[in-house]
Amino acid sequence: MTTEQAPSTKPHRVVIVGAGFGGLEAAFGLAGAPVSITVIDRRNHHLFQPLLYQVATASLATSEIAWPIRHLLRDRPEVTTLFATVCGIDAAAKRVLLDDGDAVPYDTLVLATGARHAYFGHDEWEPFAPGLKTLEDATTLRRRILVAFERAERECDPQRRAALLTFVIIGAGPTGVELAGTIAELAQDTLPPDFRNIDTHKARVVLIEAGPRVLAGFADDLSSYAQRSLESIGVEVVLGQPVTECTADGVVYGDNRLEARTIIWAAGVRASPAAEWLGAPSDRAGRVQVEADLTIPGHPEIFAIGDTVSIDAWDGKPVPGIAPAAKQQGKHVAETIKARLRSAATGPFRYKHAGSLAQIGKRIAVIDFGRIKLRGTIAWWIWGIAHIYFLIGLRHRLSVALSWLWIYARDQRAARLITQGSSKVV
Ligand SMILES: Cc1cc2nc3c(=O)[nH]c(=O)nc-3n(C[C@H](O)[C@H](O)[C@H](O)COP(=O)(O)OP(=O)(O)OC[C@H]3O[C@@H](n4cnc5c(N)ncnc54)[C@H](O)[C@@H]3O)c2cc1C
Repeated sequence: MTTEQAPSTKPHRVVIVGAGFGGLEAAFGLAGAPVSITVIDRRNHHLFQPLLYQVATASLATSEIAWPIRHLLRDRPEVTTLFATVCGIDAAAKRVLLDDGDAVPYDTLVLATGARHAYFGHDEWEPFAPGLKTLEDATTLRRRILVAFERAERECDPQRRAALLTFVIIGAGPTGVELAGTIAELAQDTLPPDFRNIDTHKARVVLIEAGPRVLAGFADDLSSYAQRSLESIGVEVVLGQPVTECTADGVVYGDNRLEARTIIWAAGVRASPAAEWLGAPSDRAGRVQVEADLTIPGHPEIFAIGDTVSIDAWDGKPVPGIAPAAKQQGKHVAETIKARLRSAATGPFRYKHAGSLAQIGKRIAVIDFGRIKLRGTIAWWIWGIAHIYFLIGLRHRLSVALSWLWIYARDQRAARLITQGSSKVV
């Protein structure tokens, strides 16, 4: 009897944790490779986060910006999708640990678990100033915004009514700017004919930013244009003032106390605990400091990508936490895994920045392509076409395009539904 073993015919096992922009791109990029893939996500859907604010402001429905992960990977027999939450990694035994006690073995692991909002050491603010990251966050915000108008309609006390009609957004990056602009338009254009006792034009939308300008990642002139545009549609912009207190009644910034029943957090993010799972080096926002090829130091078989990593791969500058960066990293990891299986050479990841886009309101957007900068209606059309292009599937594209045309032409937002409870639930 021979002790020689036959060569293993088992395919190489790739486990991808997180089916966001980065993880999904890695799975797509591995099509045709001699691997078996397990995709694990704690949500059953892939989410197009750039349009989450449109769900929060009743412009789009949840189903227009999310897809079941299982459905997206249905034509790939080598891919198994698991609806499960990862709580750790046993790197020595090469197993992903799930919170229900199960474990999933891997040969190569890709961590693409993203980030969540962070309150700079003030986690107690979260119940009063929820952030926007998931579909649940978006429908919670939508509920709070719409309920505030409903309560104001029945409120006789002018001071309490004013607080109900004051909406504070903390953080003037793209998400804060987009939320502020859309809430202002909701109050100015969509809601006025529907209410009898309040004038929704009088709603205050206050955008508070600790830094010196809105859209800090954009060129100075675009950022000034964005501020003027916001002010022209009724948004009050407060700059250079960090919020120092957040309660159920309002916020404090500088020497000012502002009574407001709706506060939205759009100010900071913290990476998923991927670095903690591995005891890997991380930056102040908890992002894993990966090697040039996106592997974890000391673990060439583990990659980390997207919002959960920190890497200076944009001509020596940090790669921004945006969807195209996560997708480029997912693609790079897929190429690296395929090259390794062929014993071919692999190279470092290099980020290519296509541009930055932000919508300020209906017909107003800014685009910073570096040398080319666009603003106003032309930028708004390009912003809309780009977002429709990046949605998955014809049905979603048509549906979103129709919803936007309807808002554009009629100022009507069809998704104005108060869900998650009756009028008694806040
Ligand atoms: C409100 C908002 C607006 C944005 N707007 C833009 C924009 O206009 N343009 C742009 O380019 N970018 C935008 N971004 C940023 C962009 O969405 C992110 O950079 C991108 O999603 C990062 O991709 P990712 O794959 O790293 O993580 P994600 O897309 O966040 O995916 C992470 C996945 O991991 C899963 N996961 C996390 N933890 C676990 C766990 N423990 N177990 C199992 N699964 C887990 C999550 O459920 C999720 O599906 C926006 C983000 C937000 C929140």
